[in-house]
Amino acid sequence: HFISLEGGEGAGKTTALNAIRQALEAHGHRVLLTREPGGTPLAERIRALVLTPDPEIAAEPLSAEAELLLVFAGRAQHVRQVVQPALAQGTYVLSDRFTDSSYAYQGGGRGLDPTFIAELERRTVGLQPGLTLLLDVDVAVGRARASGRGEGPDRIEREQDDFFQRVRNVFRQRAAGEPERFRVIDASQDQAGVAAQVVAAIDAYLTK
Ligand code: C5P
Ligand code: MG
Repeated sequence: HFISLEGGEGAGKTTALNAIRQALEAHGHRVLLTREPGGTPLAERIRALVLTPDPEIAAEPLSAEAELLLVFAGRAQHVRQVVQPALAQGTYVLSDRFTDSSYAYQGGGRGLDPTFIAELERRTVGLQPGLTLLLDVDVAVGRARASGRGEGPDRIEREQDDFFQRVRNVFRQRAAGEPERFRVIDASQDQAGVAAQVVAAIDAYLTK
């Protein structure tokens, strides 16, 4: 079983991940917690390249296309090296972000063509989570929670609200288009409220 957690900045993914992990373990499942961008040593290097621009190359902003391909390079490695082997052993894989984030950030945020992203997905990833929890929150609320805690010059400092509004819109559109896979969580609630919603979603998924 493959489960992903998605959401914009300041949606509360980290707290929700721990609640999901505990809920899965309470049902007696082995859980592998992983993340994207990243999840293997190589892919974590790529994550740093994408998220924390090297000051020596700060004058050379990452193009949208290069960003997309770097994220997918990391994802291709992550899927083969970590996700597929764990799934093959019957482990529940819980990923902090997955391909939906590319549609949201590189597609919605940076304006790349979603059919190109879908082609990369088809050729390099070839698998989808059975359940995707989307932590959905108003952009201004998320920004207020997230500012100042990022990994260096994070997206939250580099981008304006309209970028994050496009990101949110794409996440919500994808959730609406695939209601079987997605559960949308109201992430405007406090941590306990969000945790209760994600645990309920996990329980429903496991018992269906
Ligand atoms: O919120 P999280 O800890 O997952 O932070 C990851 C960062 O990577 C966020 O700032 C998010 O905007 C960015 N990201 C991205 N493209 C992706 C996935 C994440 O720009 N495909
Ligand atoms: Mg986080």
